[in-house]
Amino acid sequence: MLSSTVVIGGGISGLVAARMLARAGHGVTLLEPNELGGAVARRQLDGLQVDVGAEGFATRGGAVPDLLAELGLAERACSPEPVGTWVYRPDGSTRIPDGAVLGIPTDLADPALSALGEEGLERARLDASLPAAVGADAASLGALVRARMGDAVLDAWPRPLVAGVHRLDIETVAPHVLLPGVLDRLAERGSLAAALGGGSGQLGGLSGGIHQIADAIVGELVTHGATTVPAAATAVEPDLFGWRVRTSHDTVIHADRLLLACPPWWWPSGLPEPLAAAGRSWPGPRPVDLVTLVLAHDGGARASGVIVADGGDRVRARALTFSSAKWAWLAEQAGDRVVLRLTYDAFDGTDEALVMRALEDARTLTGGDWSAADLRASDRTRWAMACSAVEPSMTAHREQVRERLAEVEALEATGGWLAGTGLAWSVTDAVGAAARLGA
Ligand SMILES: Cc1cc2nc3c(=O)[nH]c(=O)nc-3n(C[C@H](O)[C@H](O)[C@H](O)COP(=O)(O)OP(=O)(O)OC[C@H]3O[C@@H](n4cnc5c(N)ncnc54)[C@H](O)[C@@H]3O)c2cc1C
Repeated sequence: MLSSTVVIGGGISGLVAARMLARAGHGVTLLEPNELGGAVARRQLDGLQVDVGAEGFATRGGAVPDLLAELGLAERACSPEPVGTWVYRPDGSTRIPDGAVLGIPTDLADPALSALGEEGLERARLDASLPAAVGADAASLGALVRARMGDAVLDAWPRPLVAGVHRLDIETVAPHVLLPGVLDRLAERGSLAAALGGGSGQLGGLSGGIHQIADAIVGELVTHGATTVPAAATAVEPDLFGWRVRTSHDTVIHADRLLLACPPWWWPSGLPEPLAAAGRSWPGPRPVDLVTLVLAHDGGARASGVIVADGGDRVRARALTFSSAKWAWLAEQAGDRVVLRLTYDAFDGTDEALVMRALEDARTLTGGDWSAADLRASDRTRWAMACSAVEPSMTAHREQVRERLAEVEALEATGGWLAGTGLAWSVTDAVGAAARLGA
């Protein structure tokens, strides 16, 4: 055996890194006190296996498609159905134009653009005739959209979408962070709509659910002799040969190297200063509730996703995904039933109160005619969402942790908290961390 590594955290990042290390012949012990997979999670609801964390992935960069291929899951990869997404506001909802990327239209003739009004529409269409240099120096994605298509487009779709899906402020996030290469393509193709057209950076899914990725990796870990321990790392201590790791089962594991694959607010005690201090100053998580509803019928609802730009007095949800319309595999399994998921900023109330709230919001957001009697099953899962690591305010935190990690022997860290929220960033980062540890 080459060396031994303790991986602290069995979310997708820890699993991916552990798999690479184990395949390369290293001894691996993975500690995870909760379900393996972390935010790649499932529940069984009314006989359906439903993702209650990540439900899709960005194909950009190829990290997740490559992983699926290695795991033998490539043939289950699928694309979401083109059900469309609406942006809800108390004074009326507007449909995001078909083919839009982050809410930015790619077809300036799409009828949905009429929601902008005559002046807004005319301004949006200027994108096609403005010189390519307009917006080329935009410091933020918001500035880019404003320069090319105007405020009406920006406020109608990209701003609420970037806030709702990525929890980022479009006025501060640089264009390339969410749209790699966009400014180069603008220079080549002459307009923003053309730069984003052609289907780059799309969302992918997995027939049967994203949670199968975690299952497949866990299967491989077993094959390669890695050990998974259902306990948390509570304390670590450097010793002559590497590290001593104390677990919540009060056992001690010795290892040559450590991989921290959980966010700093969960790190074990005993990490060397000043790394530990950098962890303590890392912004804490924001609790988010995800509610999944399985309903007996479609209620005549509009089967599309909804981003809530402003819920007014009526809606508390931040977003609704019509999962069984979005994913054909789920529709097939659900039959006459429908599956919806709604996200909330931490809801202060019982599970039952939140589920009833979600049913009411689902009615308002989709027009579905459902009563409590139509509810076949429901789930509330609370997540600790990290502040998006690609947000400009996180740059200093990220750099500090990376610098301080580099000062410590035989220690690495990985995760969505450090690389950016989402499987594409997490998987890429975990592959990099495992490579630095010798995989
Ligand atoms: C509701 C929701 C929906 C999402 N939807 C999508 C989506 O559709 N597409 C997408 O790309 N991304 C999505 N994401 C984001 C994506 O799921 C995450 O970015 C990614 O899964 C993060 O993985 P991770 O391994 O870094 O962290 P986590 O999944 O948080 O894993 C960290 C693990 O560490 C464990 N742990 C903590 N402390 C310790 C300790 N002391 N010892 C041992 N183990 C410990 C935790 O129990 C946890 O399992 C979603 C996230 C949420 C919450």
